[in-house]
Amino acid sequence: MRRLDRRKERGGVKKLLCKPCAVALEARGKTVKPAGGRCEKITCAECGRRRFGVLYDVTGWPTRRKKEGTDK
Ligand SMILES: [Zn+2]
Repeated sequence: MRRLDRRKERGGVKKLLCKPCAVALEARGKTVKPAGGRCEKITCAECGRRRFGVLYDVTGWPTRRKKEGTDK
């Protein structure tokens, strides 16, 4: 079960996302839950396109990036 305690809004971001991006983020290990519920035309924060989507609450973003292999 997920805890509902909100000590700080740690890493929780609200983002307008289209469905594919929300699914993709979730697949990458983020917790993505719809915060609005109404599907409307938005500009997706991930792909930057005008699409239908909702406001999502995204948590679990890597706040600090691990530097493993700094070479590009
Ligand atoms: Zn998108």
